[in-house]
Amino acid sequence: MSIQVFGTPVSRGVAIGRAVLVASSRVDVAHYFIGIDRIESEIDRLRQARDGVAAEFGALKNELPAEAPHELAALLDVHLMLLHDESLIGATKAWISDRHYNAEWALSAQLEVLARQFDEMEDAYLRERKADVEQVVERLLRELRPSAVGAAAAGAPATQAARDFGGEDPLVLVANDVAPADMLQFKRSVFTGFVTDVGGRTSHTAIVARSMDIPAVVGAREASRLIRQDDWIVIDGDAGVVIVDPSPIVLEEYRFRQRQSELERARLDRLRHTPAVTLDGQAVELLANIELPGDAAGALEAGAVGVGLFRSEFLFMNRGGNVPGEDEQFEAYRDAVIALQGLPVTIRTVDIGADKPLERGSAQEHRYDHGLNPALGLRAIRWSLSEPGMFRQQLRAILRASAYGKVRILIPMVAHLGEVRMTFEALTRARQQLDDAGRAYSQVEVGAMVEVPAAAVMIDRFLRHFDFVSIGTNDLIQYTLAIDRADEAVAHLYDPWHPAVLQLLHHTISRANALGRAVSVCGEMAGDVAFTELLLAMGLRSFSMHPARIASIKQRVLRADTRQLAAHLEQVLDSDAPAEVLRLALQGRTWH
Ligand code: PEP
Ligand code: MG
Repeated sequence: MSIQVFGTPVSRGVAIGRAVLVASSRVDVAHYFIGIDRIESEIDRLRQARDGVAAEFGALKNELPAEAPHELAALLDVHLMLLHDESLIGATKAWISDRHYNAEWALSAQLEVLARQFDEMEDAYLRERKADVEQVVERLLRELRPSAVGAAAAGAPATQAARDFGGEDPLVLVANDVAPADMLQFKRSVFTGFVTDVGGRTSHTAIVARSMDIPAVVGAREASRLIRQDDWIVIDGDAGVVIVDPSPIVLEEYRFRQRQSELERARLDRLRHTPAVTLDGQAVELLANIELPGDAAGALEAGAVGVGLFRSEFLFMNRGGNVPGEDEQFEAYRDAVIALQGLPVTIRTVDIGADKPLERGSAQEHRYDHGLNPALGLRAIRWSLSEPGMFRQQLRAILRASAYGKVRILIPMVAHLGEVRMTFEALTRARQQLDDAGRAYSQVEVGAMVEVPAAAVMIDRFLRHFDFVSIGTNDLIQYTLAIDRADEAVAHLYDPWHPAVLQLLHHTISRANALGRAVSVCGEMAGDVAFTELLLAMGLRSFSMHPARIASIKQRVLRADTRQLAAHLEQVLDSDAPAEVLRLALQGRTWH
């Protein structure tokens, strides 16, 4: 029977496919299809890993000192038995030969199946044996030596053979949580959509999903418990609904919607190179948000006139906590700058912390590991200033990239004038170091993110120091309303229409305009068509968003008349129901 699970819609569109359940801690396991000719060698790889682990367990058992508790030997016996159990190894082989999953994927798929069976057991002792299976799988995963195909897939995660392997059903990922760093693994993945139990609309996992332009629902609480490995599911990324085992009628309806959105996409695509100018002749700058230098080409293709936000922290992830060195960073920034062919690239200094931990692992796990309240803790510029050597290293790398094109530096989460002073001191020192080393660099503009209410309230003072500001509405909303943006339990209170948020936005945009400083919005509101007219009415002329959102926003800009919009602004700002007032105003009606 078909069931529905409700969550928060975070990335539009409809995905229909078979569920692949992945434990949060194993989302980074390589997922790729193998060709028919590789099935035997893949099973062989599994067999070798099994033999390797069995030999290790056997040796451990033999070396146990006589005085060791006998439970230890018994535990090793259980693990050895599991290693040869058909329900683990036999079934894993079946995932490889029937579904053409690589061995790691097959193992984690089978672990999910077994874990459920254990969870459903009445007997508490047997239920706890799940941990043994998990430990054995963990060992096997470590033991599996990468195959040539696997090595390529690890470099270009989960891309390949998916499409080569024609006739395969589309797949959607279901997990309790996916860390932002792991989302990067899905950039060109086999998955056509995903669902997670936790997360909010502007959690970084959701942001990366939007940048990939794949339908996604987060905060669907029970999803990973209710959905079973291989179930057919529909992800409705517009409504935030997941339908498990849909009836043929429902399926047909969704297939129809899928075709409609493909047509709409193709239509919008034609606007790619049309300049974004309003009906009354106001030019609007539509910039791209990117996570990695490889995204830069896509930004240009989508019609962006520059990069408004390069989230540099993604270069720092998936490296076991080690930060990339100056040369490596420089090369990444330079590649993005060259790809933009003279258009500006705004590189934000690292914004590590909160739901973007340095080390890998789910955001959920880390939320409680790193400080009591990481969103209010050592994050972004606070973290950079606490690691001055690392900060100057990043500044030098960015400055060096400025020799190759137009670079702007953006500082995240500034709240104190002391932070401003220390940032500029670090910049001066970084320039001196480059001078001493005889390295080339050019003039760069320096801007601040306005994402803490303090910065918005005292924007005039900030603007004495910075060349430009970029409003990070994701955090501005989080900090103004005291809502953890990654926490699904308070997702219903996360409200971009809140009058306090609108006032801070309006104040920041109008003061920057009055003082002749460039101002942009780079939070998710910039790519949401519900806010385009309102932001234009506030005087905003620069929007930065995922490349996939540019065409839709451009369409709204082309149809807007900023003079008419400005006339409604006061009414919207004064209202207790601003969204409704704006909607009626756009229809030429008034609200009572
Ligand atoms: C924001 O806070 O709006 C923003 C753009 O930065 P991030 O989403 O990376 O925190
Ligand atoms: Mg932010």
